[in-house]
Amino acid sequence: MSLPIIDNLEIWEVTEDILLIHQKKVPFLFSCCDGLLILPKEARNKKTIALDLNIEPKYIKNLNDIYGPVSNYVCTHAHIDHTSHVYAWEQLGVNIHAPTPEANYLLDLRNFYRGFGFNETLEYSTIEKFGKINGFHNCNYINSFKSGETLKFENLVVETISFPGHSRSHVGFLIPKEKVFHISCLGFDKPKPEIDGFGPWYGFKEASISQYIEDINQAESIFLNYAKFLTSSHSYIVKNPDTTPFEYMRTKINENQKKVDNALKISNSSKLSEDEVVSQLLKMDIFFPKKKLKDFLFEIYSLWESWIIRKHIQRSNQFK
Ligand SMILES: [Zn+2]
Repeated sequence: MSLPIIDNLEIWEVTEDILLIHQKKVPFLFSCCDGLLILPKEARNKKTIALDLNIEPKYIKNLNDIYGPVSNYVCTHAHIDHTSHVYAWEQLGVNIHAPTPEANYLLDLRNFYRGFGFNETLEYSTIEKFGKINGFHNCNYINSFKSGETLKFENLVVETISFPGHSRSHVGFLIPKEKVFHISCLGFDKPKPEIDGFGPWYGFKEASISQYIEDINQAESIFLNYAKFLTSSHSYIVKNPDTTPFEYMRTKINENQKKVDNALKISNSSKLSEDEVVSQLLKMDIFFPKKKLKDFLFEIYSLWESWIIRKHIQRSNQFK
């Protein structure tokens, strides 16, 4: 199949009728994620289906002109890089699906604010600015499903796989017949084999490192046993039996643990409370160089990093 050339988009064939789409330049760091287009195939689906393809509205329109009409769109979880432009699919008449309870976060940014616990430390105006810089707009209606449920669009079967270490509703997609496994935002974020990203992301109160490690193990077993191709929200396509994604994610978590353990050694923290240790380590900028960040971004990054640090401190106490 010859692929269209659209400025600022990369389009890869995962199989002959499943495409992985990536927007190259983005308005802000958390405004887009890569996703899949399942093109029509006889006896499977007459209309195209989009899986977690959150890119700017003009590109959504381009793709819909070429491959549409798109009948259904499935979102994997409600972090803003997966929700900001979903409204543009909805405006084209696409049915939007998302896992509960995060499905509600697409309807109102205040649900996102409260749902992820930002309200415990930040003003709503901080999250409003964050939504705006990433192009977020509300959707009007979401069909919600339970993480782990199997979805069917005409004869296309999409199994959703629950990966709650990242966020409580977070799912991957297994398309068993096509042997395609999309692990979504699990943490394989290498744009190219030679370039590293941040790795697994657990900068929220509800995220869990031990659950994360279970999710990675489960994803590896699904990939090796049931899939030929692995895709994710921020990376290149991997072919079975390449286990790079899983080794990368485990290594990143171990490296993060080492960063926190080393910082604990030099911070002389034995007499301090956990909160005091977290704020001391936060000032050391061990994960994000926050000094250059201004107002609302400084606040958001500090909140994320404080949870990453806290989870590693708890983990290191657990193994003492
Ligand atoms: Zn995410």
